[in-house]
Amino acid sequence: MVWIILFGGICASFMVAVTEAKHLNILYRRSRCDSCHHTLTWMELIPVASFVLLKGKCSQCKSNIDIGSFICELLLIFFYLLPIFYDLSLKDLTLYYLMITILIPVALNDFKTFTIPNHMSLLFLFTGLFLTDLQYIEPFKDIVIILILHLFYLLFSDSVGYGDIKLFTVITLITPVNFFVYTILLTYIIGGLFIIILHFYKSDMPRKIPLVPFITNALILAFILYEEINTIYFGGFL
Ligand SMILES: [Zn+2]
Repeated sequence: MVWIILFGGICASFMVAVTEAKHLNILYRRSRCDSCHHTLTWMELIPVASFVLLKGKCSQCKSNIDIGSFICELLLIFFYLLPIFYDLSLKDLTLYYLMITILIPVALNDFKTFTIPNHMSLLFLFTGLFLTDLQYIEPFKDIVIILILHLFYLLFSDSVGYGDIKLFTVITLITPVNFFVYTILLTYIIGGLFIIILHFYKSDMPRKIPLVPFITNALILAFILYEEINTIYFGGFL
């Protein structure tokens, strides 16, 4: 379990760097402080612990370290451990680990910058197709879904970005069709609830709301509730 925690933390730091990367050189360059550019020592690179020990500040210039990476480390460790304590209802663990590893950093990036880097969508697509061995590709249904997504984008381009459409397209190609439908439904249910709650606390609503955090939440919920929703969806009113 210690290894999973360590691995989750290291994965998180790495994935945050990959998500924010503008050049390939992050893969071999040592990490630096964003303000004073001093090269971080290994003591400053231990996931979670470094941030806590340094109280979130650079050891040289004392400027604040971006908290996004720390949050990402905590979230990834938590969701890496989840399947150990909790039986996931959709038992495709490879898919589960792939999704949280890629989407949690992308969700945080979307939250900060309202963008989804193209290289992350591509990475998600290719690793997804490779790891799922193309078993969830259903050409006819997938094409119909992709057409609907694009139609949705043309009609409601104010409420959804093209980055989100690309992400949904990847998800439909690497998951079972019904799983994808649950994910879309849950995304808008969670997003809708969030907007209603936000209305109570804030009079001025933000003009843009990042969608990837909701997509990620929806995916994790779909993993946990897959069997239950299947029963309700196909055994209940439909
Ligand atoms: Zn510094």
